[in-house]
Amino acid sequence: MSRGRGRIPAWLASGFDRMGGTATLRAVGDRFSIAPNGFTPRLRARRGRPFQILIYHRIHDRPREFMLDTVAVDRFDEQMRHLGRRYRVLPLSELLDRAGQGEIPPRAIAVTFDDGYRDNFTHAYPVLRRYGLPASIFVVTGSIGTGRILWHDQALFAFEQTRKDRYPDPDRGDPTDIRPIAAREGTAHKVLARLKRMGGEERERALTSLFEVLEVDRSRLPSNLMLSWDETEAMTQGGIEIGSHTATHPILSLETPERVAAELQESKRTIERELGRETRLFAYPNGTRADYTADVREAVRAAGYRCALTTRFGPNEPGDDPFEWRRGTPWEEHRALFSVKLALYRAMEANS
Ligand SMILES: [Zn+2]
Repeated sequence: MSRGRGRIPAWLASGFDRMGGTATLRAVGDRFSIAPNGFTPRLRARRGRPFQILIYHRIHDRPREFMLDTVAVDRFDEQMRHLGRRYRVLPLSELLDRAGQGEIPPRAIAVTFDDGYRDNFTHAYPVLRRYGLPASIFVVTGSIGTGRILWHDQALFAFEQTRKDRYPDPDRGDPTDIRPIAAREGTAHKVLARLKRMGGEERERALTSLFEVLEVDRSRLPSNLMLSWDETEAMTQGGIEIGSHTATHPILSLETPERVAAELQESKRTIERELGRETRLFAYPNGTRADYTADVREAVRAAGYRCALTTRFGPNEPGDDPFEWRRGTPWEEHRALFSVKLALYRAMEANS
């Protein structure tokens, strides 16, 4: 979610940054939130200092098609260097305790990764170590150390590997030419959008038929995409906290209460058994408002977690419900744009 991408030209961001605009924005954002309101934006005094939570998924060293939500490792390095210099990067569990006491320090921010990709260990972790920054990784426990990959990566793999020329367009139903890579990627994303609206069993049937229609052998799925428990454990020694992102990445709002409870409890137990330490942290799969309900939120609390992260956009304040903390993904290509937008989003009122 890179809101407003491209609306601020890079040269303007650089000038604004050089003239101290970003530092001013950060300072204003620590005390006030700004809601756009025509030519007279509304200012609200904050209940306490805000904190931002950044969300990443994959970090790559070589761009490839059919890779979702990925940031180049040199960009990531630049972004982490910026955070290290200009922000106070805190572990989520410390933010959780401090938010409870209303004691958020100035310029507080946290870094998170969802899903548990192996590149978090091979590419992101060395960068975090270089700058001495803590982070949290939300793992899908059924995919850690098992060779199983997430359902959205399975669907992408099928489209990447297929030799078929045509596939029925998911929106219109008529077959489209998927030989051009852009068309194949476009169709893959439409299929993903559909899979996201399905419960686990229905989605499994849809995936099986996807592999059949695209004539791709499902036994050839890559098995080295996700973290192992050894890698995960090694990172916990270096300031990385591990939270749960369920056992199989279901859309929790579409599952039965029993299934929801099982996903929440099983993943927490697995993490605690493998790492020998408690986890209080959870992140909702997909994480938009449609992906969890009040009952799901309550189930997360009942399972023993103390905070749950969404992918809803905006900063958080002490007093906000820790089971609906917001995050943001300002992964701009340009360094000054990243710097300015990060400060700008901090000062903006979170929309509902
Ligand atoms: Zn996820």
